[in-house]
Amino acid sequence: MATDFFWSYTDEPRSYNRKPNSLSVPSNPKPFWPDPFAFLKISMVVLLQLWTATFLHDASWLKILMVALLFGSFLNHNLFLAIHELSHNLAFSTPVYNRWLGIFANLPIGVPMSVTFQKYHLEHHRFQGVDGMDMDVPSLAEAHVVKMNLKINMGRMHPMAGHFISEHYVFNPEQETYSYYGPLNLMTWSVGYHMSTMIFRGIPGSKLFKVKEIAPEYYENLESYKSWSQVIYMYVMEFGLHRATFSRMKRKLSTKTDKKSE
Ligand SMILES: [Zn+2]
Repeated sequence: MATDFFWSYTDEPRSYNRKPNSLSVPSNPKPFWPDPFAFLKISMVVLLQLWTATFLHDASWLKILMVALLFGSFLNHNLFLAIHELSHNLAFSTPVYNRWLGIFANLPIGVPMSVTFQKYHLEHHRFQGVDGMDMDVPSLAEAHVVKMNLKINMGRMHPMAGHFISEHYVFNPEQETYSYYGPLNLMTWSVGYHMSTMIFRGIPGSKLFKVKEIAPEYYENLESYKSWSQVIYMYVMEFGLHRATFSRMKRKLSTKTDKKSE
């Protein structure tokens, strides 16, 4: 039974080594601009969540729990991924507007996280897998605690949350990041196109599918998923009891990585 992570001795994931310096790949003459509809989409979801809360103000607890599970959870997850989009400044070209919209998107979630998420998430992109720097990777103690309660934790897992596993949990030690090309991308700002978000920066979710069309050579021979529920099942049944939370690739901070600019 595993009690340690996979360790990589390269500065960055092997599958990213072929990345271009910019997005000016031959068949992509235009740069991608921020998503002009982001503000509208986020506002609609926030208002829908607030309206639902008002609508349920005197409903029974059972009804509230059912609506939360079957409806509100999808919208809240959508807002969480909107905050991810905004952490990359992909709604407005002026960063502070993205920050304010992130705080607005955070309202129905209830727990303030949009501002701190940006700080830690940008470190995740810059120092992927680096021990003590990338907060997306659990510490040894965290991995032990979650693994001890694995079946309870997985039993509570929402299908949309499968993306947390599919993105970076290593099913094949040759590949550190995985994409998901299924229908839930429509509700999640296309976060399933995860390889694209890690290779190329500054592309809004609404345009990520185009990157795969324009530059298919970056996706050749890469494993991907079509179902997040299947990913959760695989995580628990196929190797969960053996590797579970330790199925992450870690690396030590190198001076080269530290000096690299964003
Ligand atoms: Zn990101």
